[in-house]
Amino acid sequence: MVSRVIPVEAFDLVIFGGTGDLARRKILPGLYRRFIAGQMTDDSRIIGAARADLTDDIFRKSVAEAIEEFVPANRRDPKLIADFLARLHYVAIDAQGDGGWAQLKGLMRRNVVQAYYFSVAPALFGDLALRLKSHGIADDQARIVVEKPFGRDLASARALNATLAQHFHESQIYRIDHYLGKETVQNLMAVRFANILFEPLWKSEYIDHVQITVAETVGVEGRGAYYDKSGAMRDMVQNHLMQLLCLIAMEPPYHFDPDAVRDEKLKVIRALDPVGPLDIVRGQYLAGAGQGSYLDHCEDPTSRTESYIALKVHISNWRWKGTPFYLRTGKRLRARASEIAITFREPPHSIFDDAKGWRENVLVIRLQPDEGMNLMVMIKEPGPGGMRLAQVPLDMTFADALGPEAEDVPDAYERLVMDVIRGNQTLFMRGDEVEAAWAWTDPIIAGWEQRGDRPQGYDPASSGPEDALMLMHRDGRRWREIRE
Ligand code: NAD
Repeated sequence: MVSRVIPVEAFDLVIFGGTGDLARRKILPGLYRRFIAGQMTDDSRIIGAARADLTDDIFRKSVAEAIEEFVPANRRDPKLIADFLARLHYVAIDAQGDGGWAQLKGLMRRNVVQAYYFSVAPALFGDLALRLKSHGIADDQARIVVEKPFGRDLASARALNATLAQHFHESQIYRIDHYLGKETVQNLMAVRFANILFEPLWKSEYIDHVQITVAETVGVEGRGAYYDKSGAMRDMVQNHLMQLLCLIAMEPPYHFDPDAVRDEKLKVIRALDPVGPLDIVRGQYLAGAGQGSYLDHCEDPTSRTESYIALKVHISNWRWKGTPFYLRTGKRLRARASEIAITFREPPHSIFDDAKGWRENVLVIRLQPDEGMNLMVMIKEPGPGGMRLAQVPLDMTFADALGPEAEDVPDAYERLVMDVIRGNQTLFMRGDEVEAAWAWTDPIIAGWEQRGDRPQGYDPASSGPEDALMLMHRDGRRWREIRE
């Protein structure tokens, strides 16, 4: 297959927080990769903006270092790096002050796409939006990109939406959830909506349950004080796991169009049932393997914030009534692995005497570390000796069929930044979606706070608290093993 990279329109992209961790690790190396793929026109520019007083040259040098660190050697070409760096500029700006804005205004062009990436603390989003307008910098077509977290509850998300709405129209606001930028997440939509095969089975009549797992091996060290105000529910479930759940559960949109897709996702969120205490397990990792516990890292020895959560979630609509969605995410677990597993029901009747080898069909969508999709199907075990069954994976990533292109899958951030320039909001969260997700999340959190529930301790490098296993066993099901 021939790669089809289409250059996007010429742009001026300002990265507020251009010297920060996210910009260095993801956004700038990602832009370099899009540049070498031929997606940037010659006159496109990237402008770093942060508080530090840097020259263009010092900023370029730091970006060169970031490329060295975060782009694989086979993609680093000194000539291309130099060409890329020549497009970079820097302006020292304080989001809460008035210095630097006139210089930024002087740099921005009117006849190209203007995009402003807010890669700074959320407390500064409102200041940036206000000043971009009050200094007459952002035009009516300008796009702003906002990072997570988008609020910490419904009230703060509403307030943030209202602040942004004072200065920008919803069609200009790109709320990032980088899980939506992952190749396999989009492939999930292709598999569902470009094939007749799955859709007739895509309902509670044929799907027994769905598991969504996002497991990390890292703890909260270094970010403990910040994380302790959030916890796994706010940090992961309200946004990333919720978005994945929506893509699995939504009805087919009438078109692959931003609002059509987001309307369907919103309907799913609104159909989520409240989750009762018996269907929630929260955990905190204990000390072990030479590492401190969650409580050692978070600075508050009495903290009840969860570093792990598992939930059983029901969607009250015709399609999903009777099919639970089990969500779990946690830190300091056995392996770094994110996947969605859709387990189908048993065939209504087995014609085989020896059903020993029999397993359910499972569609596994792997988000990390190796993005891919597998459909577990039953076949006859090869060889003589009667009809013995065996489960084998049908690899649906078709890496061989797609050739080298499939190996050079863009990182989620690369894809999403280019979508901003293209003006495609499909993979970004709309304001009402975020609010609906908080409206579901808030009472769950309020519930455990009122009850004074304590998270259960779990061993590092385990698969989470014991009670999380029970959450499944109770229903006669089991979690898939967490492995890389
Ligand atoms: P960081 O602390 O590493 O960097 C913050 C940046 O903001 C720096 O460039 C700093 O100079 C700049 N800044 C701080 N105060 C400023 C001010 N008053 N005016 C102008 N610039 C100012 O933070 P980060 O990890 O890069 O995170 C940035 C945003 O991205 C946050 O909203 C964070 O929640 C989000 N995010 C980060 C990651 C990640 O992996 N780092 C992942 C997801 C989301």
